Amino acid sequence: MLIRVERTEDAERVRRTLATFGVWVDRVERGAGRPGATLVASSHSDLARATDLLAIPGVVDVTDAVSPHPSLDAAPRTFEVREGWSLGGRERTIVAGPCAVESEEQIDRLAARLSAMGIRWLRGGAFKPRTSPHAFQGHGASALGWLRDAARRHGMAVVTEALSETHVDDVADVADLVQVGSRNMSNFALLRAVGRTKRPALLKRAAAATVDEWLLAAEHLHTSGCPFVVFCERGVRGFDGGTRNLLDLGTVALLARVHGLPTFVDPSHGTGRRELVRPMARAGLAAGAHGLVVEVHDAPEAASSDGPQALRPAELEGVLRDLARVDGWRET
Ligand code: PEP
Ligand code: MN
Repeated sequence: MLIRVERTEDAERVRRTLATFGVWVDRVERGAGRPGATLVASSHSDLARATDLLAIPGVVDVTDAVSPHPSLDAAPRTFEVREGWSLGGRERTIVAGPCAVESEEQIDRLAARLSAMGIRWLRGGAFKPRTSPHAFQGHGASALGWLRDAARRHGMAVVTEALSETHVDDVADVADLVQVGSRNMSNFALLRAVGRTKRPALLKRAAAATVDEWLLAAEHLHTSGCPFVVFCERGVRGFDGGTRNLLDLGTVALLARVHGLPTFVDPSHGTGRRELVRPMARAGLAAGAHGLVVEVHDAPEAASSDGPQALRPAELEGVLRDLARVDGWRET
């Protein structure tokens, strides 16, 4: 990192203070027509937060000399999936579908209903990451086929999750956007395998991931060949069980507005409660999200997974009408 001090004579005192933060000064550069000096330093500790270093008397600026995620920085901010059909930028994407693909009839019925509402992205898990090994694990490869057929029949694009390296290629054959689930955000071997498919990826945030860890997971995808990463905030682990997760919309605004990164919000897993999906979908778009991922089921009481958070198709219609009135910052 580069630490600028106001006056050259501050350099030695600042160097000693930096050491207490685990930051070691490699060399001191003076001049270049500017007052003061620049300390070229390396950090060996998590203690060294820029805000703390800025508070050291004499320090006027702290910057990371080299970005830790150059491939992400250089990646495009929009991606054309098909002609005239993009992700990111001014496009507002709604991804909808069941938590799990439960049968050929179910996914076809839902795809018909969703495409009639104008939804172009169909989701549904074939391989399900479940906390309990006794819970429904998904219909696997058969479900991928059902999902592909339903999407084709109704002119939709597919989002589905790759749970393990062993079936990444099968998933990539079907998915227009390959989902890496929350529990796998730091599964670097899986990230590399998904990257090698050259498909765009939907990278869900892990329940306790910092923003930097999330950005670096995207860097793994990019350096392995992934052309485009959509970040999906789905809530982090909170301290209160009132909602399933703590939907971190401040981070959505940070990613979408400050970093300009393609960012979606998943208000279904973010809240775990059907009645909270509409307000958090609105809030997500208002925060700057480029899209939403919403779970839908036509008989949530009988769903194999995540029934309590699934909207019925008619409820989703109401939410969509409501969302049309929400100005994301891009439209204003
Ligand atoms: C999902 O979207 O189906 C899912 C399992 O979500 P998450 O990885 O965010 O828990
Ligand atoms: Mn789910």
